[in-house]
Amino acid sequence: MHTLSVSALGNALRRKEFSSVELTTHFLDRVAAYDTTLNSFITVTGDIALADAARADERRRAGEDNPLLGIPIAHKDIFCTRGVRTSCGSRMLDTFIAPYDATVVDRFRANGTVMLGKTNMDEFAMGSSNQTSWYGPVRNPWDADRVPGGSSGGSAAAVAAGLAPIATGTETGGSIRQPAALTGLTGLKPTYGRVSRFGMVAFASSLDQAGILARSAEDVALSLGAIAGHDPADSTSVDRPADDYPGALGSDLSGVRIGVVKEQFGEGLDPVVGKLVEEAIDDLERLGATILDVSLPNSALSIPVYYVVAPAEASSNLSRYEGVRFGHRAAHPVDMEDLYKRSRSEGFGDEVKRRIMIGTYVLSAGYYDAYYLKAQQVRRLICADFARAFDQVDLIVGPTSPFTAFPIGEKLDDPVAMYLCDIYTSGINLAGLPALSAPAGFARGLPVGLHLMGNHFREDLLLSVAHRYQQATDWHTRRPARFT
Ligand code: GLN
Repeated sequence: MHTLSVSALGNALRRKEFSSVELTTHFLDRVAAYDTTLNSFITVTGDIALADAARADERRRAGEDNPLLGIPIAHKDIFCTRGVRTSCGSRMLDTFIAPYDATVVDRFRANGTVMLGKTNMDEFAMGSSNQTSWYGPVRNPWDADRVPGGSSGGSAAAVAAGLAPIATGTETGGSIRQPAALTGLTGLKPTYGRVSRFGMVAFASSLDQAGILARSAEDVALSLGAIAGHDPADSTSVDRPADDYPGALGSDLSGVRIGVVKEQFGEGLDPVVGKLVEEAIDDLERLGATILDVSLPNSALSIPVYYVVAPAEASSNLSRYEGVRFGHRAAHPVDMEDLYKRSRSEGFGDEVKRRIMIGTYVLSAGYYDAYYLKAQQVRRLICADFARAFDQVDLIVGPTSPFTAFPIGEKLDDPVAMYLCDIYTSGINLAGLPALSAPAGFARGLPVGLHLMGNHFREDLLLSVAHRYQQATDWHTRRPARFT
């Protein structure tokens, strides 16, 4: 059952080959068997899953049908779930039980999905390797000594190992696409505002966006259809109807102009990764696309800009965790200052503290103009680069990550090396654009991702092109040997 696509699972449920309760039991059994190795879940919600599944079976018996009815899903532990711990990978929220569901969780439930549990993640989504989680590192199913990427690494490992058919993720600078690339999945970061952020623990509000990790573009399209659309509870959600993503799949590529970013094939890129991405671009050309060169001249500046803007917003968003209204509370405080200081010192890990300090610094009087304001100006230039490119082409391609999954322990004592994992992805978040990563081969046995970037609200085209590519290739069907 765990090797079937979402649409095949839906067909089997429809034909009563198995029930959602049976399907859910199968996935819960796999979680129990394999997750001691992978550590991809922070919380497994077995009872809720079986109750959700029984309800889905009941709805189906009553004549209801939709593509996700009875399909299990894992939610990144950044999404608030009523009655279930939402830790955000942090000791700070280790005992936090949300009083409401995030809109994403709510909409999936309304569509009849079954919540298997909450997945591991970098603390407050800060990281590119899932090593900053208070709950320990997640392991990559393709090589358990390596990272799965981050920050949605738990979701990525769970889907790649067949512990869940689909999972939610979130992005601030690459946290869906980079782990998708490192674990051989298809991961979509939608346009900023396309999917509601209500009930998602905030990291950097002008960049955060929810999305999907799945095994194929088709599975992503079915899932996105359930959650895209306006939400009055999120003032940054866009009041524009969602497209018919599954309906847009499968069109041929003739007439589609695809731009190759020349700046993204230079220094820092693993040559084997670069070669596989070039071969994937040749495949797209063979399938009918017109390949052109485009330039994103400021793309090298996206990391420095991101690491001013994201920490600045984070330092503000994370000020709410002071041990009084939210978060871990230090024992026996002598006064208020002691309470704040010790609660935050104990509750946050090193990377989160580093971000808060950088963010506070760049926002402080005297440095604001030099850092924060300057970063916002360069952000504008990065947006303009994309706008110019999209005057010439419909989609942009490149590598998702400069390298494949690296060993656990690596880059931990070198924050700048870790930050460079997002060199090709973070510009997309700064510009609020949609993008996806799709499997494009293996380098030394480890998955490589092809990065497809689209203009605002062109999730339909991104998914359609990825789907066409997946009809012609089988990279996305490969499974890690230990988890078949
Ligand atoms: N790796 C980046 C960071 O650490 C992006 C994280 C994300 O997208 N949530 O901030």
